[in-house]
Amino acid sequence: MNIHEYQARDLFEKFGVAAPRGKMASTPEEAEIAARELGIEKLVVKAQIHAGGRGKGTFKNGYQGGVHAASTPAEVKEIAAKMLGQTLVTHQTGPAGRVVRKVYIAEAAGIEKELYLAILLDRAKSAPVIIASTEGGMDIEAVAAKTPERIFREPIHPLLGIQPYQARKLAHALGLKGQQFSQATKLIQAMYRLFVAEDCSLVEVNPLVVTKEGNVLALDAKFNFDDNALYRHAEVVALRDETEEDAREVEASKYGLNYIGLDGNIACLVNGAGLAMATMDNIKYFGGEPANFLDVGGSATKEAVAAAFKIILSDKQVEGILVNIFGGIMRCDIIAEGIIAAVQETKLPVPLVVRLEGSNVEIGKKLILESNLPVISADSLADGAQKIVAAVKEGKAA
Ligand code: ADP
Ligand code: MG
Repeated sequence: MNIHEYQARDLFEKFGVAAPRGKMASTPEEAEIAARELGIEKLVVKAQIHAGGRGKGTFKNGYQGGVHAASTPAEVKEIAAKMLGQTLVTHQTGPAGRVVRKVYIAEAAGIEKELYLAILLDRAKSAPVIIASTEGGMDIEAVAAKTPERIFREPIHPLLGIQPYQARKLAHALGLKGQQFSQATKLIQAMYRLFVAEDCSLVEVNPLVVTKEGNVLALDAKFNFDDNALYRHAEVVALRDETEEDAREVEASKYGLNYIGLDGNIACLVNGAGLAMATMDNIKYFGGEPANFLDVGGSATKEAVAAAFKIILSDKQVEGILVNIFGGIMRCDIIAEGIIAAVQETKLPVPLVVRLEGSNVEIGKKLILESNLPVISADSLADGAQKIVAAVKEGKAA
């Protein structure tokens, strides 16, 4: 799960990570009031979307940049009016872009130097790792590709936590001295406490800046939370912005379905993550492109299967469906009932291939056969994948 920058700012404050003051607004009028309440002369107006690269982004209405400086409340209002309700395209949003529904009005920092700081999980080391670089404000992937020696990595022992010497090592790697050195070590340790306490999988500050006054501040913030730990962070869940998430994924999560939207045209409905991966591999192997990953789980109900079908069909890119079920705890007849109910309700605008195996497979197959619905039956995973790829090709040719 992700959050917005203005929400991240609140978490920074709670844990003592220094960052500029600011206020969120969702209308130009609110933005003007926020600017007045902040009572600061030098401000920035920042588009709030769950994607980076805003500074260099472009709005579809032609307005350049999702981060703008302003010096009066009237100017803040004017900029907010140009951003709100508009679609911002950045290198992270893809060509579709994201609609800006909120802006963040923040104190403008006089920037002397832009640095990079992030904490994430290093799965190979089975530990959190802090990444620091003097090359802040730009695409860190590009820095890693061109000048990897400018990226400093410090793994943290998961049980011992961050040691003061490690924070000093990082501050040193950032080239900081004196007051900035001690501010940075404090900020790094506070950020690590936040990372652990809130079960983050990523906290990225790009840029971390040294101001003209000589202070060290986190100017931007990107957070990822571990979804498996959200149950113990109700206050984080409350920050969720569903308008920023894939509508299909939000709907699927209501039924306990594991759904991830992809770019292809063959939808899959499978039970078990491993089987879902194998199904996608097979579709690709036989020349198709999966439209989604969908694991209905081991104990899905007839209703969940029907809901899964509707989510799949709400995706306009879908030109065919492959159902691949291995009945274990989940019985094939239950799946068959769900499929029949969904097909009858949706009138099935695209070809459907069903492969059932395992518990009650005979009953399941019989139910589908007797329903007289236009379902193509398959006997193995490879057979199913070939049949759906062929059916989609035929559909296109027709
Ligand atoms: P993104 O990463 O989405 O482009 P950032 O928050 O990093 O958004 O902002 C882009 C750039 O805008 C920063 O690198 C910085 O130069 C400038 N900027 C952002 N926030 C402030 C601020 N509070 N004061 C001054 N400059 C800022
Ligand atoms: Mg940034």
